[in-house]
Amino acid sequence: MTHPTDDPRVIVPSDERYNATLVERHDETDTLAYFSVRFDGEPVPFEPGQYMTIGVMADGKLWQRPYSVASAPVETANGYEFYVRHVPIIRFTTLLWRLQVGHPMRMAGPKGRFLLEPADARTHLFVSTGTGIAPFISMIRETMAQRKPRKTVVLHGVSYADELGYRDVLEGWERDGAYPVRYVPTISRPADPRNAEWTGRTGRVEGVIDDVCRDLGLRPERTVVYICGNPDMILNVERVLMGRGFPEFHVKKELYWPKGKEVAAPSGG
Ligand SMILES: Cc1cc2nc3c(=O)[nH]c(=O)nc-3n(C[C@H](O)[C@H](O)[C@H](O)COP(=O)(O)OP(=O)(O)OC[C@H]3O[C@@H](n4cnc5c(N)ncnc54)[C@H](O)[C@@H]3O)c2cc1C
Repeated sequence: MTHPTDDPRVIVPSDERYNATLVERHDETDTLAYFSVRFDGEPVPFEPGQYMTIGVMADGKLWQRPYSVASAPVETANGYEFYVRHVPIIRFTTLLWRLQVGHPMRMAGPKGRFLLEPADARTHLFVSTGTGIAPFISMIRETMAQRKPRKTVVLHGVSYADELGYRDVLEGWERDGAYPVRYVPTISRPADPRNAEWTGRTGRVEGVIDDVCRDLGLRPERTVVYICGNPDMILNVERVLMGRGFPEFHVKKELYWPKGKEVAAPSGG
């Protein structure tokens, strides 16, 4: 495991390319954190599902990566919220993990076509692993703010229960009826001591998606599916859905990295 402190690059504290500031940071586990980055000038509008590119200068070079926005477009005054996994190789996240609140950053965007269809009355099935849940949180927050909620099922897979980002938020919306969402978390390593207290669903998302569709009565003609995160998971889920008769154009995908480019240690997406 490469720890952020193993990264020898010198982070540049001020540079003319910086146009934003890290205004909030909350570490959920050692390797998962929420970051909020605010433009120093006016916020730029975006649509839920889009991503921004954030970066920082180190050793005279700008290091930057795309991240799905988890906050709603109506919330940009507080910055854009991102949910990020630390990848244990010396590239961008080893720099990001070393930044304290108040550090300047470079931010650009928005970009991306992983968008909600206007006024889509179908049930929305949001499938993700790891940090791939971020764009779905933005979509729910925005349609909630607009008072145009959509019937939604959130299937989220992680290795360990403490990696279920936004769990409290989703359980809260489901419990108090603030949003018509059915939250279905699943844990892929139930035998691990870290999951000792987990009593919920187990298995990888591609392993449980068939049961979830059957149990919740999700029919191809009345459901639109959005899948985000790990490319292998996306292809596997898509294969299962095709087998259940979902037409390809009812399935939208956002890949966080190209297929076949796995790093050994991190799991999920
Ligand atoms: C459109 C888009 C949106 C993205 N949104 C997010 C997001 O909201 N949150 C987020 O954490 N990442 C997101 N990513 C991935 C992100 O851009 C970086 O690739 C990632 O943070 C790792 O950066 P790096 O420079 O350390 O390593 P990179 O060189 O960028 O990636 C190296 C390897 O790390 C692995 N990896 C990359 N991202 C993840 C991840 N999220 N979880 C597990 N393994 C990963 C892959 O095997 C990849 O080949 C997104 C990518 C794209 C294309």
